[in-house]
Amino acid sequence: MGLLARLKKGARAAARHLGEGEFEAGDRQVICAVCQHAVFDRGSARLNTAAASLLNLDWANRTAHTLLCANCGHVLWFVKRPSRLIR
Ligand SMILES: [Zn+2]
Repeated sequence: MGLLARLKKGARAAARHLGEGEFEAGDRQVICAVCQHAVFDRGSARLNTAAASLLNLDWANRTAHTLLCANCGHVLWFVKRPSRLIR
């Protein structure tokens, strides 16, 4: 399984705990760049670096926030956590 497939699988697993919804980032609603869908599953992923892994410091790596498009599976990455839109 490739890295992208593992990231998508991890994002899907994390999203199951949070539920689908609409989100905003930078004061704009997040829309999928591939299919224009507006519903995403929210998750997170570690930003591991080779140097940190080599030194066994994976715990010190930052976490990214992910939104997984509920329609096409495209994954969007954010350093700041996107806010859920309440409708
Ligand atoms: Zn999409």
